[in-house]
Amino acid sequence: MTEEVSVMAENLEQKTAAYLTHELRAPLTSIRCALETIKDCEERLPADERQMLDIALRNTERLKNLIDDILDLSKLQAGRMRVFPVPCDPRALAAEAVESLSPLARKKGIDLALEVSPPCAAVDADPRRTVQVLINLLSNALKFTPAGGRVRVRVEAGKGDRAGYALFSVSDTGCGIAAGDLPRVFRFFSQAAAGERRMEGTGLGLAISRSMVELQGGEIGVESEPGKGSTFSFTLPTHIALEEKDPQPRPAAERA
Ligand code: ADP
Repeated sequence: MTEEVSVMAENLEQKTAAYLTHELRAPLTSIRCALETIKDCEERLPADERQMLDIALRNTERLKNLIDDILDLSKLQAGRMRVFPVPCDPRALAAEAVESLSPLARKKGIDLALEVSPPCAAVDADPRRTVQVLINLLSNALKFTPAGGRVRVRVEAGKGDRAGYALFSVSDTGCGIAAGDLPRVFRFFSQAAAGERRMEGTGLGLAISRSMVELQGGEIGVESEPGKGSTFSFTLPTHIALEEKDPQPRPAAERA
């Protein structure tokens, strides 16, 4: 295959992925709405049907996440992923992610909490994408931590070479990751052997998270010890008022 043909094939593949994922969303949304409507009056159902309903709802959620990940992957591959940073309160971003996964943590018997160390300045972040990264890290932490474990989300001001950045971290007391697997957990379609082998997943979440963080001018990393737990953390630049970032030359008369 010539280089030109291979670029065309790649473009076609990306367009097909974008088209298919887009087309899959509408029927999935309709299935989900129907199931949610039934869920609203589930007390009328026998216990085994209620259980089936919950399984169906969980699976529509998994399918939705998978479609979203494939769509993000195809945008990233095509270089079409855009982020829209605005000044945001980092605590509010972390609180939104924690709140959305608190029911799952409760259900799994995991103690989940948010800890914020002031002072914590505003960050320049795309709120939707940043919450998506936090939710990715948090759902992994909940997935790889057994009942009775602890998951902490922390937000603090970066120090030393991280000055000028906010530091977000998600720590768990789960199975941890072997040192040899650490360098590849952020690669697309990569799953570490130290993770519980039967866990569902695609190996897309961390690779997409890394791209989202880097597109926003931050860095992501992980520290882990098998059997003890993992800490995934990322930085985002602190918001600096526009005048400070890009000082407008004042007119000579004003400077005098
Ligand atoms: P997925 O979770 O869909 O497999 P990810 O990209 O989110 O994909 O994660 C890649 C791999 O990294 C996981 O399959 C798992 O092996 C490992 N991993 C991620 N987060 C954790 C964690 N908190 N504890 C242990 N292993 C983890």
